[in-house]
Amino acid sequence: MQRSPQPDILKRLAVKWLNKLQQVKANPISTKRQIDNATNKYNHPEVKNDLKKMFNGKCAYCESKVSVVDYGAIEHFRPKSLYEYLTFEWNNLLYSCNICNSGNHKGTNFPLDVNGNPLLIDPSDDAIDPFLHLSFSWDEVAKLANIDGCDQRGNTVTEIFDFNGNRGRKELIKKRSIHIKKLLTLLNIALNTSDMQAIQMLKDSCQTSEEYSAFALVHILPHLAHHFRDPEAIALLEQISKRSPAYAALARFENLS
Ligand SMILES: [Zn+2]
Repeated sequence: MQRSPQPDILKRLAVKWLNKLQQVKANPISTKRQIDNATNKYNHPEVKNDLKKMFNGKCAYCESKVSVVDYGAIEHFRPKSLYEYLTFEWNNLLYSCNICNSGNHKGTNFPLDVNGNPLLIDPSDDAIDPFLHLSFSWDEVAKLANIDGCDQRGNTVTEIFDFNGNRGRKELIKKRSIHIKKLLTLLNIALNTSDMQAIQMLKDSCQTSEEYSAFALVHILPHLAHHFRDPEAIALLEQISKRSPAYAALARFENLS
């Protein structure tokens, strides 16, 4: 994804806020409240609105729409408690649901590999190919849309965010599975009838603005491109394949022409 430009408020004040935070922390008589106040400057409506827009109102990690009952959170990819200098750094900020952001999941967790590189995946980093690290599979028997790790990084991500509900986060996999099951039913209808409305709805499901679109990219988009030869679907499949060799392989990009 393309990160939007840094909001004006950060351009103007990020350096000042960081200096202030460092001063307050260095002062032995500062209270916890003073430190919290100096830290929480990042939690500004302008910053949050820009992040919300950039992530289409979806949690950067679990791809759920952050609904009206959850205002969402400004998430620090590198936790501010460990990387104080990145507290107000635009490129370190993400939009997430409060569950992914909570201490039980991401919280201050930021595991590194033996070389000191992050094991978590920054969803806004285009240099990372998510399809290389994560698999999005549909279990036809259990009717479950599983997200599994393909390597150490993928395993770390699925474990921390509990994508498959192994640590109790059952609502997420349930909601995701219902969504994918509906899409696959719609796909069957489209394949049998070539119904234009069904095809359009399936195309819409592949847009990044939609919930769980990573699954739609894997399970829906290749059919729209290969079977229906839909020009928009082909263009989207091409666009993602160019960014992601792992996706190109699973979506049979080579066979398109
Ligand atoms: Zn989430």
